[in-house]
Amino acid sequence: MPQTMAANALENLPLSVDPRFIPADRADPNDASQVVSLNPATGQPLAGVKLDGATQLDQAIERAKAAFLRWRLVPAPERGEVVRRIGHALREHKDSLGALVSMEVGKIRSEGLGEVQETIDIADYAVGLSRMIGGRTIPSERADHRLFEQWQPLGPIGVITAFNFPNAVWGWNAMVAAVCGDTVVWKPSLMAPLTAIATNAIADRVAADMGHEGLFNLVIGTDEVVGKPMVADARLPLISATGSTSMGRAVGQVVAGRLGKCLLELGGNNAVIVEPDADVDLAVPALLFAAVGTAGQRCTTTRRLIAHESIVEPLLEKLVDAYERAPIGDPLDDKTLVGPLIHQQAGEAFDAAIAEAKAQGGTVLVGGDRAEVSLGGCYVRPTIIRAPASNSLPIAQHETFAPIMYAFSYRDLDEAIAINNGVAHGLSSAIMTAGVQASERFLSPAGSDCGIANVNIGTSGAEIGGAFGGEKDTGGGREAGSDSWKAYMRRQTCTINYGDSLRLAQGVQFG
Ligand code: NAD
Repeated sequence: MPQTMAANALENLPLSVDPRFIPADRADPNDASQVVSLNPATGQPLAGVKLDGATQLDQAIERAKAAFLRWRLVPAPERGEVVRRIGHALREHKDSLGALVSMEVGKIRSEGLGEVQETIDIADYAVGLSRMIGGRTIPSERADHRLFEQWQPLGPIGVITAFNFPNAVWGWNAMVAAVCGDTVVWKPSLMAPLTAIATNAIADRVAADMGHEGLFNLVIGTDEVVGKPMVADARLPLISATGSTSMGRAVGQVVAGRLGKCLLELGGNNAVIVEPDADVDLAVPALLFAAVGTAGQRCTTTRRLIAHESIVEPLLEKLVDAYERAPIGDPLDDKTLVGPLIHQQAGEAFDAAIAEAKAQGGTVLVGGDRAEVSLGGCYVRPTIIRAPASNSLPIAQHETFAPIMYAFSYRDLDEAIAINNGVAHGLSSAIMTAGVQASERFLSPAGSDCGIANVNIGTSGAEIGGAFGGEKDTGGGREAGSDSWKAYMRRQTCTINYGDSLRLAQGVQFG
């Protein structure tokens, strides 16, 4: 799908109905009252968006608060019905929305569509959840008493999203929050405001048509004017924030200061261990997708390869060959596997990391420089850098949001696990092995310290059914499936005395 066809697809989306939308010919990067969304593939403006200020933030929170008072009383399965129809509306818009994701953040077409599919999947999941949310009944120590837990809606929640998943991260939060009885105030990345406008409008319209106004609210503003005040606002009992570790550290402290709840989904520095018995035909494509997919701009991107010393050389040879054959270019061209970086600063961060790695004794095996693509965006060649024999490469401790993979070698599995765990982040990890002992050791309490630990697949591309998130500098939050919904509700412990005498716990006698 060429760029012009994708641009036509955008006409199907509810963009221009939003009063903040400014068509491309009137988008002005020098006007401080707007943000211009650039297509990273071409560097050209897609459209402008008028920035919200403090008043719009206050109005959005008040709208979400008022809607919450009504929505919390709607039976959960009925809330699920609203989410079910949002899932249908997203299916109808999947092509256009997927194209918009590709145009706004540079993902290849298949990944843009996959992102919208992820939101559809979580909507389906949330529909089922709406009939399953439940609490435990616990044996009471007192006769004629019933002790149980129930889960109550939490309130209007604040959702802050990163640029690289401009649709799905909202979906993980908003679809689950909605069946839990919460309403949402969303602050998207200023690098992807159009996807946010279209996504929010689709959901908001479905809910409003079903008589539920105000469930989904969107504020588009700078961190100073909108982001920081939103985080500090006690009307939002939960802030779910996705982005860099430095953002999470700032947000976490402010929310903790007001004793609010925080759900942090932050950066990753993910590794794949390759054992001597690994199936190379599995390992190479798994590593290629995880390290190069989305041009290395996923939180779960494989940034470190830890390969056994007996196989590291032939494995690297195969990987270099695969890297060299990965087509770089227009993300909307079906042949492309590697699209652009989000902006020129990301390219500069890539250059700086390469220079630092070389200065630290790293050897560039493939890539390491810019790719020649005439479209106008910032394109780099996916890169593998071999660590020096000492295995010491300090730059590999950091997350550079670009397709750079650092290669280490090891002698025994304990050493490999120590390298895997020896970074500040703790998001995703994987081992490639045919051996049950190695995989079980990797999954044991002495194994990977990450929130995600895979065997014979790469570190990225999680399904929505499991809880998603990571430890240490990744922030500790869990989103999407499993019991992540509990973060969006408040737990209430209830005791009912159905006898006719007052019995005190622990056998206490009082009077
Ligand atoms: P970023 O930290 O620059 O921005 C993320 C969001 O936080 C944006 O909406 C931004 O405006 C907002 N923000 C920043 N500072 C804020 C503050 N003080 N108060 C309120 N809001 C603030 O991240 P990015 O460049 O958009 O995304 C890339 C980063 O996100 C990477 O580190 C990546 O690993 C991480 N990420 C993590 C996950 C995950 O689920 N763990 C998913 C996607 C991306």
